[in-house]
Amino acid sequence: MQYDWQNIDTVLLDMDGTLLDLHFDSHFWLEHLPHAFAQRKNLMLEDARYKISQLMTEHAGTLNWYCVDFWSESLEVDIMRLKSEVTYKIGYRPTAEAFLKHCQRECSDVRMVTNAHRKILDLKIAKTSIDQYFDQLLCSHELEHPKEDVRFWQRLNENKPFDPERTLFLDDNEAVLESAERHGIKHLYSIAEPDSQRKRKTPSRFPMLANLI
Ligand SMILES: [Mg+2]
Repeated sequence: MQYDWQNIDTVLLDMDGTLLDLHFDSHFWLEHLPHAFAQRKNLMLEDARYKISQLMTEHAGTLNWYCVDFWSESLEVDIMRLKSEVTYKIGYRPTAEAFLKHCQRECSDVRMVTNAHRKILDLKIAKTSIDQYFDQLLCSHELEHPKEDVRFWQRLNENKPFDPERTLFLDDNEAVLESAERHGIKHLYSIAEPDSQRKRKTPSRFPMLANLI
């Protein structure tokens, strides 16, 4: 992929499904957590899955959806402990590290913008050292709005100004890309295969990258 570096001053990058394989997260939410929750509550696996998916639908696109404490309290399980049981599944997407090194060479303002909770970000940094590639790492909880909400981008700009016309942003979430577009961010890309173990089911209005670089 040839990015228009001449016209880019700021790079904003999502983490899960963009730089790191979404397989860790999919496996956790669709397999590991339902099994642990069913066991703990003495439920049939299908009932556990139903309860979790109901909460997910109810809180989709909100900070709760991304909040470790919300899930720990709602399901009465220790989400961080359960996550730490499957950290062997955390890993980079193909070419992600080469792409990050390239971004560092091409641009002096490279920021991670993630909806992941800071505790999860720390867990992933411990496993991948992904923080070494960024000038700044921002969790949406700290800006008080998820990336799906256009106020996130306003807060991001207040935190450290950037010119949306000269900003590159990569994310695998369509609602997030749409919100970035509403803020005026110009160079927008989606991801063709966020999860190495399952095919992407939804299309995108934005160009989808098969390879990051
Ligand atoms: Mg993502």
